[in-house]
Amino acid sequence: MRTFSLKIHHLFLCRYLPIVGLLLLGSSVCALELKGALSQGGMLVGRVSPGTIVTLMERKITVDNDGTFVFGLGRNAPPEIKLVTSNGKGEEEYHIFAVTQREYREQRVDGVPQKTVTPPAEVLERIRREAALVKQARKGDSSLQDFQVGFVKPLEGPITGVYGSRRVYNGTPGRPHYGLDIAAPTGTEVYAPAPGIVKLAHEDMFYSGGTLIVDHGQGVSSTFIHLSEVIATPGQRIETGDLIARVGATGRATGPHLDWRINWFDVRLDPDLVLKNFPSVETTILDQ
Ligand SMILES: [Zn+2]
Repeated sequence: MRTFSLKIHHLFLCRYLPIVGLLLLGSSVCALELKGALSQGGMLVGRVSPGTIVTLMERKITVDNDGTFVFGLGRNAPPEIKLVTSNGKGEEEYHIFAVTQREYREQRVDGVPQKTVTPPAEVLERIRREAALVKQARKGDSSLQDFQVGFVKPLEGPITGVYGSRRVYNGTPGRPHYGLDIAAPTGTEVYAPAPGIVKLAHEDMFYSGGTLIVDHGQGVSSTFIHLSEVIATPGQRIETGDLIARVGATGRATGPHLDWRINWFDVRLDPDLVLKNFPSVETTILDQ
């Protein structure tokens, strides 16, 4: 027979007051631990007893041998999410979490090459092909746990674009912006924000120019675009702080900057939230 129980969680309770939580709300309330931003664009790292099956909104999440799992909330994630934990023997718990809803600003970007706003018919096939490569690179569910050591900024510089903003390119509304834009002169060194394995290195994609994708494990990946030079190579193991690329203005860009994106599979996350909630345990290499 299947049994169900429902838990309404307050994240702070499980993060900071596990003992009080145990006393107030019963012994199993913190069998599920979550760390991260319960917000649109947030990345969450969870822990359950090994062997537990975790499902997020009908999607089964990989749980590794020590009970760790990770998931992300997209730009338009709903106000409430449901996680189901199950012991595989018919006992299930429903965990309901509130998700902070954000407001996104509009950002007008003028001066990008017009062909990147209204692409001519002859490049549509190229655009499709490149999108498929990117999709494939982000699909892997590797057993790496590199996201667990946290993240550093891949370089320092003024922030010129943020996650989620509605973009208007040369007056034409485009898709929202998902990266963190950090302005720097062409040729500036880009360092690995976290360890991982290089999944894709491409010299020149139509929209994103020089493009690099790094797998940090369990669906979490970083994407770096508009690069003038891609240094890391597919299959290469990289560590935090390794030189992986150089800043450029290739693809749909008005000037040199790094556009850094973080995904959980196809779900786009906010690198700024990830940096704030998962600062690297390694010292700030860029301040030396
Ligand atoms: Zn950007």
